[in-house]
Amino acid sequence: MNVFKFGGASVKDAAAVKNAGEILKLHSNEQLVVVISAMGKVTNALEKIVDAYINQTGEATTLLDELKKYHLEILSGLFADSKHEVYNKLNNFLVEIEWVLEETPREYDFVYDQIVSFGELISTTIVSEWLNDNGITNQWLDVRDCLITDNTYREGKIDWEVSTNLFQSRLNDIFKQSNIVITQGFIGSTTENFSITLGREGSDYTAAIIAHIMNAESVTIWKDVPGVLNADPKQFKDAQKLIQLSYQDAIELAYYGASVIHPKTIKPLENKNIPLYVKSFLEPGSKGTVIGKDLETKPLIPSFIFKSNQVLISIAAKDFSFIAEENLSEIFSDFANAGIKLNLMQNSAISFSVCIDDTPKKDSLIEKLRAKYKVKYNSSLQLYTIRHYYPSTIESLTVGKEILLEQRSRTTAQLVTKDLPK
Ligand code: ASP
Ligand code: MG
Repeated sequence: MNVFKFGGASVKDAAAVKNAGEILKLHSNEQLVVVISAMGKVTNALEKIVDAYINQTGEATTLLDELKKYHLEILSGLFADSKHEVYNKLNNFLVEIEWVLEETPREYDFVYDQIVSFGELISTTIVSEWLNDNGITNQWLDVRDCLITDNTYREGKIDWEVSTNLFQSRLNDIFKQSNIVITQGFIGSTTENFSITLGREGSDYTAAIIAHIMNAESVTIWKDVPGVLNADPKQFKDAQKLIQLSYQDAIELAYYGASVIHPKTIKPLENKNIPLYVKSFLEPGSKGTVIGKDLETKPLIPSFIFKSNQVLISIAAKDFSFIAEENLSEIFSDFANAGIKLNLMQNSAISFSVCIDDTPKKDSLIEKLRAKYKVKYNSSLQLYTIRHYYPSTIESLTVGKEILLEQRSRTTAQLVTKDLPK
């Protein structure tokens, strides 16, 4: 069997759903698990509902109405019969959200998962119903029956043993009756039967989990770009498609912040040597990118990852003594406890520098560090990561910029830059 994953953009309106249906029609004789995200920007919309509810701003119901309108519009483009069962199903999900909203808010992360998980439940229900009406017979699976995690809300850690047994028995049963299974990305269930999410953009990860468990032949992620590109086309004109790359390169690109695929996606596939295809749902016939074992990156061109809104912090002992291992271990744990990821670090005898994403969380951390160290920082910076760079690529990138910190290894260069006044 194979696993397909359709992201939010690929089901953002009625036309997109029909297009995804065309792709599935070509594969309706194969065993296929189809993992789908919430439609369009629905997850963002649900996050706003969560915020309004937690802060009791009174806007939650209006926001929920907008969400309903958005989905009804899609339904009207897909189902001619306004009495279709799918309208009831949508309504039931929305009523379940209303029930949550009527209660006194509990802890944020828990509430988040109980509300945000409806995006995927709704999208898969709509797609499954439409496919069944249009000759693409499929069965809808509530992934929460099989994908079981611990209680780390908003970032559920999967229980592989339990989930493996559940997925294998359920899917093998379903495949006796139907070739195509439609299920949700991004969500799962705790052992106490509460909904949980796997972290933003987590649907890719779901596809990889299922492929791993079911020993799938391949995973295909259908996107609105022709494959994995060497740069974000919104930031770099001339972005080019990579034809193939190794698991290792894909992990590195994701780690440095490329929005190619969710960083957790690769490991479960690599462990079972399952190839991952990234293809355009707009041009399903063209080749896209393949990620697999020992594939040399082709073409071997530099890949660019750009992050704005960076802060460079430098930490030194107050008496200019050495920054030693004990200091570093303390500093690292302060960052870890604050939940701040280090994008880049460098140390010298008397100072330790780190580059991080700017977040409000950094202020209290800096305050804390200042009790013991001299701390200086610089914000509104950029971080460039270039894989497979040439010296000339770096020069052309840094025109009009001051380089505050630079690190190069054999394959990767990283630069922290600041715009020079014009
Ligand atoms: N719908 C979720 C999100 O937007 C999961 C996903 O799209 O992968 O984060
Ligand atoms: Mg999404």
